[in-house]
Amino acid sequence: MEGTALLHLPEGMLIDQMHITENGLVIEVVATHPTSCCPLCSQRSSSIQSHYRRVLRDAPCAGRRVQLVLTARKFYCRNALCERKVFTERLPTFVEPWARMTIRHCEQLTSIGLATCGKGGTRLAARLGVQTTRQTILRRIMALPDESSG
Ligand SMILES: [Zn+2]
Repeated sequence: MEGTALLHLPEGMLIDQMHITENGLVIEVVATHPTSCCPLCSQRSSSIQSHYRRVLRDAPCAGRRVQLVLTARKFYCRNALCERKVFTERLPTFVEPWARMTIRHCEQLTSIGLATCGKGGTRLAARLGVQTTRQTILRRIMALPDESSG
């Protein structure tokens, strides 16, 4: 679907379906890259073990909240010397492992937090179509690397 480019999805991700709900836009995306690298030994694998779904908050689209329902995969690691037998595929430019929001959405929250010094950040976020809490914005600021440590 052409919306893949419109939504700036990384290579290997395709839009399966889109729904408009009263809470915003729900976009079902599928990871389609034929291989993935084991995070432990870095060996590439094309042996899919299973599929699973992740629900991720994403940056708003035209003022609407966006929820991505990502169908990702687990792969077998075929390296006999590797301790990891099954691993979940990584999408390093798009979402951190175990994260519940996309990297670009994290960056938006961080920017809102920095622009508002945390105060009124949730009101600004709401005006921009971003649903969040004060605690989440503060966590994003606290997660920034310390400048003095280089
Ligand atoms: Zn491995």
